[in-house]
Amino acid sequence: MAPGYEAADISGSRKLRIPPLDGRQWGTVTVHESVLDAVGGTPLFRLNRITAGLTAAVYVKVEFANPGGSVKDRAALAMVREAERLGDLQPGGVIVEGTSGNTGIGLAMVGALHGYRTIVVVPDTIAREKIALLRAYGAQVVPTSGKLPRDHPAHVNNMARRIAAETPGGWHANQYDNPANPHIHELTTGPEIWEQTGGRITHLVAGVGTGGTISGTGRYLKQHGVSVVGADPATSVYSGGDGSPYFVESIGHFVHPATVTDTWPLSYDQGVIDRFERIPDRESLLTTRRLAREEGLLVGGSAGTAVAAALRVAAELGPEHLVVAILPDSGRSYLSKYFDDDWMTRLGFLDAAVGPYVRDVVP
Ligand code: PMP
Repeated sequence: MAPGYEAADISGSRKLRIPPLDGRQWGTVTVHESVLDAVGGTPLFRLNRITAGLTAAVYVKVEFANPGGSVKDRAALAMVREAERLGDLQPGGVIVEGTSGNTGIGLAMVGALHGYRTIVVVPDTIAREKIALLRAYGAQVVPTSGKLPRDHPAHVNNMARRIAAETPGGWHANQYDNPANPHIHELTTGPEIWEQTGGRITHLVAGVGTGGTISGTGRYLKQHGVSVVGADPATSVYSGGDGSPYFVESIGHFVHPATVTDTWPLSYDQGVIDRFERIPDRESLLTTRRLAREEGLLVGGSAGTAVAAALRVAAELGPEHLVVAILPDSGRSYLSKYFDDDWMTRLGFLDAAVGPYVRDVVP
């Protein structure tokens, strides 16, 4: 053992006491049998600078701390375990999923350890970093157009369903309609937040992609009287928008004009949401960039949407309130988009009004 490290419990839980980095407190680390044991149990941080002028406390649940880098590790692991239990996924089987990236990364990570091949169908609109990550985990990537109506045979979900049916041993994870997705958040994310805030949380803020995160976490926290706020892109149909496209990835829902009938995912329990905050791309993406520069939190665009909504909610509340926003993934997946000044400027999200964000200052 390294000098200064002390085993607090080596009998089974494998917790080690670690010296403090910041001089304030001792902590513990746990030694896991595999990366899968490290899914969940993510940290909660208080926001300190971006909240200037607010009296309510705002905390963030940092899901990039999961080993695959996003909130979707929880759902990926839960869906695979449940499929194994039901016998839908057999040894030597193939995991197939339509995903904007993070679920595929989680599934490929679980697949690597459980011995399954993973095929992911992705919309061609996602950040190229996510495709590189999927390939790095050994997933086979099938890109398709991200602009197709839901009933089109080449739509992400329909392609995934067809590939699963045609591949021997294929299993379609189907996160949009798989009850294991919201359920794992009811079992883990909700109780973690309740515990971490000592029961002081009054408002939960999260985006809606499949709806798994907000439905499961919200269902648990609502039993304790917590208000649940959906953070939605301004034009998303989830919160009553016209369905026109937007740039924040993985949350909300836009509708192709040719889509005649559209269905809500079964993972999404609308009844859990008390109200929505509708956030335009510019507010989401500038908040995302502020989180890196003012809070030291490099997170993705949907995290910016959640924090922008949390700041709006907190502005209406007093010091007795505690708002928690869920930050789904890391900004490292979007360096070529939200953190690229040229990309941001081209799309009109950075301009003179934003000032110092546009260019580096060279001494
Ligand atoms: N943000 C990001 C970056 C995601 O990958 C996802 C999952 N697609 C979400 C938000 C939304 O999570 P959920 O599917 O649980 O609603």
